[in-house]
Amino acid sequence: MQNPRQTYRLRARASGREAVAPAEPGGVYVDRETGEEMEPVTAVLPMAPSASALLRTPDNLRACRRCDQLIGVDVSDCPYCGLRQPPLA
Ligand SMILES: [Zn+2]
Repeated sequence: MQNPRQTYRLRARASGREAVAPAEPGGVYVDRETGEEMEPVTAVLPMAPSASALLRTPDNLRACRRCDQLIGVDVSDCPYCGLRQPPLA
């Protein structure tokens, strides 16, 4: 399960409204509510391609019980040591 798409923080210049979404070079992104064009301002973790499709926030992470690395809760095998992860409770 590899996530090939990079997620970015997008910002509308005039209002400063922000969104987090996958983006591609040359794409045009429009705020659904205001119609403003949004520009990618920074890539967010994890960097693509990654084993996890979830943003790297505390809620989306757990520690591998063998190697203690933080990994996405949506990852079935630890990308560092390969250990199969138990299902979430
Ligand atoms: Zn591990």
